Amino acid sequence: MKAMVFDGPGSVSLRDLPPEGPGPGEVLVRVAACGVCGTDLHIHHGEEGSAAVRPPVVLGHEFAGVVARLGEGVAGLREGDAVAIDPNRYCGECAFCRVGKKQLCERLTAVGVNRDGGFAETCRVPAPLCHRIDPSVPLEVAALAEPLSCCLHGIDRAGIRPGDSVCVVGGGSIGLMMVQLARLAGASAVVLSEPRARQRAVGLSLGATAAADPLREDLAAVVREAAGTDGVDIVLECAGRPEATAQAFSVAKRGASLLLFSVPKPGATHPLDLMDVFRKELRIAGSFINPDTFSRAVRLIESGAVRLAPLVTHRFPLDRLEEAFRMQTAPESIKVVVVP
Ligand SMILES: [Zn+2]
Ligand SMILES: [Zn+2]
Repeated sequence: MKAMVFDGPGSVSLRDLPPEGPGPGEVLVRVAACGVCGTDLHIHHGEEGSAAVRPPVVLGHEFAGVVARLGEGVAGLREGDAVAIDPNRYCGECAFCRVGKKQLCERLTAVGVNRDGGFAETCRVPAPLCHRIDPSVPLEVAALAEPLSCCLHGIDRAGIRPGDSVCVVGGGSIGLMMVQLARLAGASAVVLSEPRARQRAVGLSLGATAAADPLREDLAAVVREAAGTDGVDIVLECAGRPEATAQAFSVAKRGASLLLFSVPKPGATHPLDLMDVFRKELRIAGSFINPDTFSRAVRLIESGAVRLAPLVTHRFPLDRLEEAFRMQTAPESIKVVVVP
């Protein structure tokens, strides 16, 4: 079984690992596609993921494939089933798990972070993490159920009401999922702020009602034109840069909610105008992973309500993972997938 093994910061290498049968309660998944996530890049640079990383480990937590073998005691799945994988597993016993905040679990384990993941030909996955998906869905699209499920948790946290105006800051794959979810949540106007022309065009084709290049245009004016007010009700920050965070605050109208969704660099800070928070009565929320949102993500993909195929711009074979990592940060890419 070929896998790209992460050996430590900056180092991944192709290895032929001995084939491992699925253990009790697990299934062996033949990986069809695995998305490259910002978190993979952070880990590759020596930062933490959603959980602590101890190399050697196979990264890749956004994947889909076909069930190749069932471990002992697995019911509800069959060989040949197409599945999308929810990588996150919770202990069920800690103080957070016991109060319905499993995403904050003290003993979170995640496939592709602290146990072997999807940048491999096959992966052993605990059966409860496998979500069956209609075989008519291309598996490279199914692989994006995981980031979509994280966006769904963010949208739930943002609290959009029908008729609200929304600004999505950052039009990468996450921002382009958020544009669609904001429309589905009932937003009357969705303004996408994104410097890259291709991403703006995709955003408009997926439901954004206006798009602006914040480096060349007056974002406030575009928002005023699109929303009919100074600022928006809901700001979804999905860019992960200091300028973007500043922009997110600048377009928040009185009474607005801001979702700071992007994964920041460790130690990143933002100077906050506290008088602004007080006078505008701002609500600021974070969002971490995907508690109980994975099934909804699968249904949104299967129904066609959310379109993810236009986001997949580049595909790489397994042994070119480092190139895939570089391409994910290149301005021309939206989502890069590895096809083992
Ligand atoms: Zn991810
Ligand atoms: Zn827990």
